[in-house]
Amino acid sequence: LVSRKKKPEDTLIQLGDVTIGGSKPIMIAGPCSVESYEQVRTVAKALKEAGITVMRGGAFKPRTSPYDFQGLGIEGLKILKEVGAEFGLKTISEIVDPAHIELACDYIDVIQIGARNMQNFELLKAAGEVKTPILLKRGLAATLDEFVHAAEYIVSRGNTQVMLIERGIRTYEKATRNTLDISAVPILKQETHLPVLVDVTHSTGRKDILAPCAKAGLAAGADGIMVEVHPDPATALSDAAQQLNIPQFHEFYEEVKRSGLL
Ligand code: PEP
Ligand code: MN
Repeated sequence: LVSRKKKPEDTLIQLGDVTIGGSKPIMIAGPCSVESYEQVRTVAKALKEAGITVMRGGAFKPRTSPYDFQGLGIEGLKILKEVGAEFGLKTISEIVDPAHIELACDYIDVIQIGARNMQNFELLKAAGEVKTPILLKRGLAATLDEFVHAAEYIVSRGNTQVMLIERGIRTYEKATRNTLDISAVPILKQETHLPVLVDVTHSTGRKDILAPCAKAGLAAGADGIMVEVHPDPATALSDAAQQLNIPQFHEFYEEVKRSGLL
């Protein structure tokens, strides 16, 4: 169902008056984790002023260590809803439990399925039962064929509103947190009709190369870029090393826009 052979025209994701897919790429930004109302509000205000329309923030955090901050859960979704409404921003947040999929639809505009859950088939099936758009991340070591089949799980249950996001894969290279697979972008665009985005934060894990990687993603045909922004990254409860602060975000966004690709 997700194959371009079945449906030659691009799938467009409509979030109110915001369209993802088609001719105009989008910049999605926000903190790794929702930590507090004030933290999210500070980021949202800056994003709104910069002209951003879609904000991301994690409420259920799939952390490597059980001792790390696990997220605010439903409380975090409530914060996103309130702040999103105040600033007129669409919201994205990760859901990790099939039992939370339906409830999430009341709070957020897009449900993210994270890399670690790309092949959580019960979660994919639950995501297929709702109408809310799904942002599906590529697994840590997933082939493109596995990625596309994971999307097929969702669409085959009836939810056609699926976006794919390349977030880097595991390789032997240690200079970056993961290896950004740029070739995934044109391949996924050719083989599927779904919007394809690039998460520059998790793929690189390095603030100093976000802009060139974002430009590379857009030049390869990506429908959007996702990046993490935190008011004070040094104190962030997750991904402290790789989130941009607000002035850094402005600089990043301006540099990407100067390329004419956004
Ligand atoms: C995230 O986007 O917050 C995240 C946890 O990323 P990933 O699932 O790609 O590791
Ligand atoms: Mn993160």
